[in-house]
Amino acid sequence: MNVYDSQRIADILENMGYKPATQIKNADIILFNTCHIREKAAEKLFSDLGRVEIVKNERSLDGKETIIGVVGCVVQAENEQIAKRAPFVNFATGPLTYHRIPEILARIARDKKICIIDTDFPAESKFDFLPENHAHGGCAYLAVQEGCNNFCTYCIVPYTRGVETSRPLEDVIKEAKELVNSGVLEINLLGQNVNCYHGEDASGKERSLAYLLNCLSEIDGLKRLRYTTSYPADMTDELILCHKNLKKLMPYLHLPLQSGSDKILKAMNRRHDSKQYLQIIEKLQNANPDLRFSSDFIVGFPGETDKDFEATLNLAKQINYIQSFSFKYSRRAGTPAAVYPNQVEEKVKQQRLQILQQELFAMQLDFNQKCVGKTMPVLFESSARNKGEIFGRTPYMQTIVVKGGKENLNLIKNVTVTCGGTNSLTGTLE
Ligand code: SAH
Ligand code: SF4
Repeated sequence: MNVYDSQRIADILENMGYKPATQIKNADIILFNTCHIREKAAEKLFSDLGRVEIVKNERSLDGKETIIGVVGCVVQAENEQIAKRAPFVNFATGPLTYHRIPEILARIARDKKICIIDTDFPAESKFDFLPENHAHGGCAYLAVQEGCNNFCTYCIVPYTRGVETSRPLEDVIKEAKELVNSGVLEINLLGQNVNCYHGEDASGKERSLAYLLNCLSEIDGLKRLRYTTSYPADMTDELILCHKNLKKLMPYLHLPLQSGSDKILKAMNRRHDSKQYLQIIEKLQNANPDLRFSSDFIVGFPGETDKDFEATLNLAKQINYIQSFSFKYSRRAGTPAAVYPNQVEEKVKQQRLQILQQELFAMQLDFNQKCVGKTMPVLFESSARNKGEIFGRTPYMQTIVVKGGKENLNLIKNVTVTCGGTNSLTGTLE
């Protein structure tokens, strides 16, 4: 979602005549898009701000103005901290108000001394004010839903991104067609809880994500569809059926489990237990036997015992995820779990994370190695680190590197996998 937001902010600025700077010292505007999901992500902002303050001061010695802005969830949660710890910041806007950047920059141009902080939950939708979402390559993100009403007890998202809203169906279809017309082959529909999408159609009737996927899969020229992130309890039978019927829907689904312990899932306020989660996986697997899964995990949630952690390990192994993101529980001020009395020691969290990641990486490596010898369609995204090599993604989102020229970029080509590492594959172009 943050990558999408950053691209849209770049679109806004380019519409105003700005161009990306090649070096930070040449930048008239420096913007940070921020994440507040874990403490580490938020802290990074303040160290980065310290770095650009030096740039701003150096440029000012040369008589050049530098506008520094902060966007995103850290602003929503910590705007006072930003103003206090980094008074040289010119403006800060939350994730729902960045469409106001042109207006904010105009105000700053008039009055250089002001610092504008905008943390509204606006009545208007930013999507109605953003410029056209043009292609940044062969794959594109398309936000269809934002905010969340689930209030998992560890999570800051409902407080920073606000209540759940879905974009109207026709707006999404129009944006998807524009993307495809500008060369996009793959669209990844985004939402904090994307599978609860319920956008209105032209007649005012609410339509589901399954309905939207069916509409989008009819767009000529669009080759691949994905959607992320899904909330397990909202995987409806209608949506599961899409994985059987829609050939453009890629056989890879991110379905965060968080924990394998029913006690912890309950304390997290997740609306599913381990048995229900397994049933959903089974239904999906029946709909499309090629489907593979990835997950998010949190270790060290308050009250997590060794036995609870073991349940997570066991369930993860049973499902055999091909990719995963795992985190130590991070206390977020204002969320219920932050004040639970039974917090887990940092040392224990660290140990559990290491053990879990070892298992998750082993499963990932195993899957990647099993792909060796197979031929898969790959959408090439950009040049790789080594000259004469390019990288792209398989249907399972694996990164794959091949020898090949730039003429292959933003195209789908068949590749035979020759080697499988933990984080990427190598192959040869057919
Ligand atoms: N809506 C998605 C997740 C969005 S947040 C879902 O419900 O699955 C992305 C991931 O960040 C979460 O899945 C969770 O694993 C992690 N996360 C969120 N809050 C966290 C916290 N306080 N500490 C550690 N990890 C957290
Ligand atoms: Fe956060 Fe996801 Fe839970 Fe919503 S469903 S509160 S975004 S973890």
